[in-house]
Amino acid sequence: MNSLVTGGAGFIGSHLCERLIAEGDSVTVVDDLSTGSLKNLSNIKDNPAFRFLRGSVTDPGLVGKCVAESDRIFHFAAAVGVKLVIQNPLHALLVNTIGAQTVLASASEHGKKVFIASSSEIYGKSEKGRFSEDDDRILGPTTISRWGYSTSKALDELLAFAYSEQKGLPVVVGRLFNICGPRQVGRYGMVVPRFVAAAVKGEPITVYSDGEQTRSFMDIEDAVEAIMRLMEEPSCEGQVFNVGSGGKITILQLAKMVKRLTGSVSPIQFIPYEQAYDEGFEDMRYRVPDISKLKAAVGFSPRFGIEEILSRTIEYLKKEMPNEH
Ligand code: UDP
Repeated sequence: MNSLVTGGAGFIGSHLCERLIAEGDSVTVVDDLSTGSLKNLSNIKDNPAFRFLRGSVTDPGLVGKCVAESDRIFHFAAAVGVKLVIQNPLHALLVNTIGAQTVLASASEHGKKVFIASSSEIYGKSEKGRFSEDDDRILGPTTISRWGYSTSKALDELLAFAYSEQKGLPVVVGRLFNICGPRQVGRYGMVVPRFVAAAVKGEPITVYSDGEQTRSFMDIEDAVEAIMRLMEEPSCEGQVFNVGSGGKITILQLAKMVKRLTGSVSPIQFIPYEQAYDEGFEDMRYRVPDISKLKAAVGFSPRFGIEEILSRTIEYLKKEMPNEH
């Protein structure tokens, strides 16, 4: 099978590419290397079944050619990280919406199946409890750029469903909940690599606000497994699924766990949101998925709990950090 992975040089995309190659696929990556890195592909870059093309997912010529040559598409190219999205909302909005439209239009034209990577940001700041796929979205005002990211991902989903219903495009949408593991970087705001790097270096672990905000972290291997199963199960077409572990932890508990697992002397430092991001920033207090739909559809259960996820990230970062420049 020929698979096209947009954003394949990124954290999630690169792990997915390795899995596809291991299963015997030929893989083409389209990535502009804006946040991804060729280093992420070092395990597979010389494999004859692998091809890397540097370019934008908003380029219809490039995307069209690659889609025509593929049997299926995994669309992961997007703006990543709360920090980056807030710093450059225009880039996030344009890449996310035009990128998805370019991929979906081309896939529809050529009749190729697509996986669309969406986000748990979709749910916004609802505090209803575990989020199910058909829950309402509760968003803040358009003057706060974080909601633009949520809105752009929602538009991607709406486009996917519209292509499915009106054009018969086979498409599956996955809403990813805080995936983490080796190769994820803290530069764009992601909490796990930031906490682990700080703890290993003995620097303060910076907990934003009161640390009572809740998240659900999923291991990258589990995420790739869930994505593969969703893509390979025909009855999932035309549907959206939460892709997460279902576990639940507050950010303060996470900081304490990282400190314990690294044996770090780092202090835990509380930082108000205004200082961490910008004035008027809004965070989600509660974000945990209901994964019963995913379980029922493809029989998926996560293999890794939060302690194992952190231990694997700690081991990786300890090895990698001396090589950082
Ligand atoms: N966070 C934190 N310290 C950091 C980075 C993030 O306390 O150095 C918090 C952030 O405010 C949020 C949670 O950790 O409540 C998860 O943040 P991340 O950016 O990883 O993902 P999100 O789930 O917000 O998209």
